Amino acid sequence: MAHTHILRSSRVRLDATVAVWVPVAVSGGVTLIVAVASLAQDNLSWHDIVGIALLIAAATLAEAFPVPIEGVAVGSTSLATIFLVAGATIYGWAAAAVAGFLAMALVELAWRRPFSRAAFNCGVYVLAAAGAGGVADRFQDGTLLGLSLGAIAAAGTFYVVNIALLAAVVTRSRGVAYGPTLTNYAQLTFVPFTVMASLAVILVVLWDRSPFVAVVLVGPLLATALYQRWIHGALNRLREFDRLKDEFIAIVSHELRTPLTSVYGAAMTLEKQQLDDDRQHQLLEIISTEAARLSHLLDDILWVSRLDSGSARPYITPVEPLPLTEEVVDAARTHLPGGLSVEILHDSPLPEVAADPDRLRQVLVNLIENAVKYSREGRVQVRLGSHYGTVRFSVRDEGPGIPLSQQERIFEKFYRLDPNMTKGVGGTGLGLYICRELVDAMNGDIWVESAPGAGSTFSFELPVAQAP
Ligand code: ADP
Repeated sequence: MAHTHILRSSRVRLDATVAVWVPVAVSGGVTLIVAVASLAQDNLSWHDIVGIALLIAAATLAEAFPVPIEGVAVGSTSLATIFLVAGATIYGWAAAAVAGFLAMALVELAWRRPFSRAAFNCGVYVLAAAGAGGVADRFQDGTLLGLSLGAIAAAGTFYVVNIALLAAVVTRSRGVAYGPTLTNYAQLTFVPFTVMASLAVILVVLWDRSPFVAVVLVGPLLATALYQRWIHGALNRLREFDRLKDEFIAIVSHELRTPLTSVYGAAMTLEKQQLDDDRQHQLLEIISTEAARLSHLLDDILWVSRLDSGSARPYITPVEPLPLTEEVVDAARTHLPGGLSVEILHDSPLPEVAADPDRLRQVLVNLIENAVKYSREGRVQVRLGSHYGTVRFSVRDEGPGIPLSQQERIFEKFYRLDPNMTKGVGGTGLGLYICRELVDAMNGDIWVESAPGAGSTFSFELPVAQAP
């Protein structure tokens, strides 16, 4: 009965599966019509109508917010089946079929799913719910045992119909064998099925005493669903982090190898060949810039481990922001690509900031180097201004910009934009992480404002130093 959203999670093409979805949708439709007719003939009490409406509402809500269950690899699982099975046991097959149709149809309509998919999914729910109701009926003899056995049988029927039809459509679209696929789904969904079957039995027994008492189930159900969502989110973040780490190792190996190869090649040439002064000078310059690149990379890696182990306490002292910034900008100007200029704009006078001068320099160097590295041309503006008890440092470039959705993420460890967006410029994804950690440690804030094609402005604020 775990209605795992195989259709939602994988790219199943229903057009390739007409032979499955049309019969399911048609038989679901016929069953629904018979169910409505049969309900119309039953003299339902107000009590029953309210109960059915409540179960439909609960099933629709649960269907709209499926729960991703860890270890169940076939997408997210809808808890709607608990309510449909309970409805089937308590109110019979016809009410359950209508409830199944409404829950699924409302959600599919809200998500604007394609007709074939919505029709198939509604058909599955109508048939599974009607089957569950039919089977439950056979066990009911007015005793508590009969009711419980009925609920268990209903749950089992719902589950079997559900995964059998889903496996049929999936195997049809992928052209794989039915038997192994069904066994695979059964294995993947069996544990959530048993949990939901037990919950359905509890719900049925409580409901039998009084629908109002059954409301106590809402709390634990909601808590379980929220907990599962939370755990799933946390694990996904860990998986993503693990992937970034792997990518980082590949990037670092590459970034270490490139300068090493240049240094090695230049040194070998110098050693083996008689060269004129100019050529010698060129090669020595290669050695020194590439060695500097290596040392920069290793510094970044060392800084990350220092920050992670918490052994990088800053030494806060009053610092004059302007001379320090000028020093960094002057150093950057010595190796600018042609077509790029760096300028400083500042309020005057500027108060002193409470900062660690080495760490502040490190943050500025990083932001200015990024601005230079990613924009390659245009103007880089470094602005200093005072803002309500802080000094704001901003580095603005006219580079490719950063999409809004990525603007938080680039401060994460190892995170880099798609190389297409940055024209393949190399990096490790550590620089901004280090900047954020250092600014945090100096009690400041750092952020970026940017739009693709419109450049980026990285800003951070540090508190003004207290007068002694
Ligand atoms: P990296 O070593 O890759 O430069 P950073 O942590 O400094 O690592 O930056 C993370 C990512 O943010 C970069 O890979 C790049 O995609 C993006 N980025 C950083 N600064 C800029 C900028 N000034 N313009 C555009 N993209 C930038």
